Amino acid sequence: MTDVLTDALRRLDEVADLVEIDPEVIERLRYPKSSAQMAIPVRMDDGSLRVFEGYRVRYDDTRGPTKGGVRFHHDVDLNEVKALAFWMTMKCAVVDLPFGGGKGGVTCDPKDLSRLELERLSRGFVQALYDVLGPETDIPAPDVYTNPTVMGWMTDEYSSIERRHSPGTFTGKPVELGGSLGREDATGRGAYYCIKELERIEGWNPADTTVAVQGFGNAGQHIAGLLHDDDYRVVAVSDSRGGIYRPEGFDVPSLVQTKNDTRALRAVYCEGTVCELVEAEMITNGELLELDVDLLIPAALDGVITADNAGRVQATTIVEVANGPITSDADRTLAERGVTIVPDILANAGGVTVSYFEWVQNRSGLSWTLDEVHDRLAEVMRREFGAVHDLATELGVDLRRAAYAHALTRLGAAIASKGTQTWFRDEPNRPKRYVEGSTS
Ligand code: NAD
Repeated sequence: MTDVLTDALRRLDEVADLVEIDPEVIERLRYPKSSAQMAIPVRMDDGSLRVFEGYRVRYDDTRGPTKGGVRFHHDVDLNEVKALAFWMTMKCAVVDLPFGGGKGGVTCDPKDLSRLELERLSRGFVQALYDVLGPETDIPAPDVYTNPTVMGWMTDEYSSIERRHSPGTFTGKPVELGGSLGREDATGRGAYYCIKELERIEGWNPADTTVAVQGFGNAGQHIAGLLHDDDYRVVAVSDSRGGIYRPEGFDVPSLVQTKNDTRALRAVYCEGTVCELVEAEMITNGELLELDVDLLIPAALDGVITADNAGRVQATTIVEVANGPITSDADRTLAERGVTIVPDILANAGGVTVSYFEWVQNRSGLSWTLDEVHDRLAEVMRREFGAVHDLATELGVDLRRAAYAHALTRLGAAIASKGTQTWFRDEPNRPKRYVEGSTS
């Protein structure tokens, strides 16, 4: 099986011919700018010492400081972090943020750590990485199994080392520590705005549209909740232990409530103090992906739809809320069947967009209202979804290729403006006055 980074970089070759882009730009984007791998020693509650492995990759910072989440998961390795940082680079360009792409991770199982151990690990990550972090260099955010609390600890640790308040170094912080209103549901909400655009273009009737969501964490819960509020029929959801399926659809707020109270995914509906367990079929995560639904939303981990199971996926539309859930081989199979895929670098860009709003607020000393955040996010997502959709139509390609072409046009112009071989050879375009000026 192709590794995740090689597979991610294939997307560059797939679009290199679609846009006018200097081959040097493509070559530059095959390699991350820098990759750090560090040991994070943590004193455990029983007095023993455990050393965790951490990573931070700054993929490209041509368009601005590197930006991207930190993942705590037992499968995290450097290669995966590089792929995630590459996707962040593309994503920030798709939605035209003044950021490059980065990503971080720690190989650990956070469910096996106490709250205090998790805090020491989060602070240890910052101690190990302090030199590359900063509001103008590298700005982390939450990702899988990290959340505002973790960002709060990290911000506090960074500010302690700096000996000054430095809120702009992390985003996705608790609002009390300088976080932005609207950051928590931003990833799900951004994907929701994309779905609303598709609904308008395709003429969907929400009540007739069935939805399955893999991953019922931050992103998955919010997209399921927003669609439920609009009368979409959310018929299946899952977490790391498996899923539940009910053809009539679920009351999503009840699922969220039970999941957050008990950490279990069960269809328990309560009215006052009276709770009732609603009948639902237990399914595996693999079965969820193959359900006969209209809209499939992978919102957990990468590489879940592969050449092995793509032929059995029945959904006609897939919105990639997770990063990299579909491998490039699987993409081809799905394309042949005419499945519409809203790619991750567009569909889940709402999170980094509101992170950008948070960074802007931190640096300007302003606080925006929730309505302001929602309006600005809706404007960005509708504008860039529209641009990608139009480009797909113009080029006769799918939305993924169009999104990459859109991102590469912006990134390519930025990288090329720093100088390429063509620039050095191309006499008429050289800024002669500087050459002349330097000899006078
Ligand atoms: P989270 O930790 O809040 O939730 C992850 C969910 O996935 C949990 O419900 C967990 O039980 C489930 N899960 C874990 N392993 C699984 C498995 N093997 N099969 C099925 N489900 C599994 O994380 P999140 O922030 O919601 O992130 C989810 C995805 O969205 C990731 O791919 C992440 O990179 C992407 N994403 C998140 C953000 C953000 O702002 N949080 C932004 C952009 C993209």
